[in-house]
Amino acid sequence: MKLYGKNALKKRLDDMAVKGRIPHAVLFSGNPGSGRKTLAKYVAELFLCENNACGVCPVCRNIERDAHPDVIFVKEQCGGKYAMEQFREALSDTVVRPNNGNVKLYIFEDCDTMRAEHQNALLKLIEEPADYLRFVFTCESTGVIPETIMSRVVEFEVPDTPADDCEQALKDFGVDASKARELSEMLAGNIGKCRDVLDGGDEAKLIESARKAAAALGRRDGFGLTAALSEQSGRAEFSQTMEYLSKIIRDALAVKFGGKAESFGKKESRAIADAFSETDILRMLDAAFEVAKNDSLNLNLALTAAYFVSKALPEL
Ligand SMILES: [Zn+2]
Repeated sequence: MKLYGKNALKKRLDDMAVKGRIPHAVLFSGNPGSGRKTLAKYVAELFLCENNACGVCPVCRNIERDAHPDVIFVKEQCGGKYAMEQFREALSDTVVRPNNGNVKLYIFEDCDTMRAEHQNALLKLIEEPADYLRFVFTCESTGVIPETIMSRVVEFEVPDTPADDCEQALKDFGVDASKARELSEMLAGNIGKCRDVLDGGDEAKLIESARKAAAALGRRDGFGLTAALSEQSGRAEFSQTMEYLSKIIRDALAVKFGGKAESFGKKESRAIADAFSETDILRMLDAAFEVAKNDSLNLNLALTAAYFVSKALPEL
């Protein structure tokens, strides 16, 4: 299995595997899209493959396809959000010995989103596990994970992927070279987000909203701008859309100074550059940053959108 931009971490895991010392319970902490799930699968290969996570044997290939019977993704089994009944059911299955081999690995993704009742059930399991059981956890932040659990796992911090490695990964997935470069730069090397955009997932929708907002900005269309910003359902989506919008506005500024638009909204950047002065664009950029970063703006999203419009297009 190829791990992009994770050489140091891979080496640590490989060295542990050679000595037979991979911890029974591993926690990968890092940003969503940084490769935590891929690392979880890599650990599964280190435990189960007879040839050092070769990546080509049937065991490794089944793990990569999420099809190995002894590698269990608990969150997915629980319908993607740790429904309690299914969670108990998944845990009760831990008394059944592995199908093949000596190891059965349970992967708990996003364990920082679990509620206390899940964590309690989990704690019982990892306190005295059967000898064939192994666990991998992933999370964004360890802050909300109880010390009782943290003390029983070995944490590895997962670094973000450098944009060059991300670009290579996308090319290996069959994305053409220029698209691979554009996406990896735009999304700062986040392979997960890049793949989401390519699959037309949530991230793609946020980018589309940001482009609509930028187009409206270029037309001085306050109503269109408000409408595009109001497509988001929550604070996180709203902030992310504003971040994408700031990238387009920043490109407009670059165009103004004779540079090139490089983000996904080139046409929109040029329209903004044509319609506004440098001072105007700088003011828009400030407003976009303020709204994207400022969680303490104690306004609902519709009001926040209106606030941005009033700052970005004050003449309306
Ligand atoms: Zn293998």
